[in-house]
Amino acid sequence: MKSGRVLSLYYHRVNVLENDYNLLSVSPVRFRQQMLYLKQHYQIVRFEEDWNALDSDAVAITFDDGYLDNLQYAVPILEELEIPATIFVSTGTMEQDRELWWDELESLLLVGGSFTPFFALEDEEFGCRWDTSTWEYRKNCYKGIHYLMKNFITPEKRECWMRQLWEWRGQRRKARECNLTLSMDDCRILSKSAIVSVGAHTVSHPSLANLDRRNQEIEIRASIERLEHILQKKITLFSYPFGVPKTDFNEETVQICRECGIVKAASTEFALWNAKSDPYRIPRKVVRDWGVREFERKMQDYWKD
Ligand SMILES: [Zn+2]
Repeated sequence: MKSGRVLSLYYHRVNVLENDYNLLSVSPVRFRQQMLYLKQHYQIVRFEEDWNALDSDAVAITFDDGYLDNLQYAVPILEELEIPATIFVSTGTMEQDRELWWDELESLLLVGGSFTPFFALEDEEFGCRWDTSTWEYRKNCYKGIHYLMKNFITPEKRECWMRQLWEWRGQRRKARECNLTLSMDDCRILSKSAIVSVGAHTVSHPSLANLDRRNQEIEIRASIERLEHILQKKITLFSYPFGVPKTDFNEETVQICRECGIVKAASTEFALWNAKSDPYRIPRKVVRDWGVREFERKMQDYWKD
């Protein structure tokens, strides 16, 4: 019997931003064009449905991180066009007046003026001094600290570094309007939409494979339980932060997800799903702020696997 393949796409933000260093955002106008294109050319399926029953190729749409703009700009377009999507939410910033950690880092190093000319990180293992006198140097510092935070340290240590950075910057730590994430009430509104399903994406968005089992379990279980408490329903979908197999999640991660009641988990492995794919390693391909012509070309490429 012929079964279909699924191209899972992942987005992060639908917004127009002054700075978008990590290329996470698609403008609402372009997002609508992209959705219209998909609706006209493909069957669109829900992430959670049983794809083994498909007899033709299909597309699934997902969002990672849980930015407020998903609710503000993406969901109205998805509802208008009746396109289903799954939103994977990191729970750590909820009601905390905090941004996701890479946004905080951006705020600390790349936004505003009057910077102290160097930053000295106090840490027995990674202690280091960065020149922060020019924007170029600060960009360099941003990249260096981002790399260390993603690959080498625990969420606990990351928080400790953040406190040092805020003290160095001499500003009050708070979330900027443009980088707000979903609140508990926002999540409830989201989950009432017939086209949206909500999944978990850890508490504080670490690269899980770099954590020991205990810390992985805390990050995974706490985010699932928090969402279950807020939404009063079982959470069975998960997306691994950063999502690269072996680099960002491992066998242990998959095992913990299974133990926590997850039945399907999304990675960022660049491939198409087929009937032989592992439900705990659903491959996905990223979408950037592409105009409709470029999007069309990318979609054609993306089906080549
Ligand atoms: Zn993410």
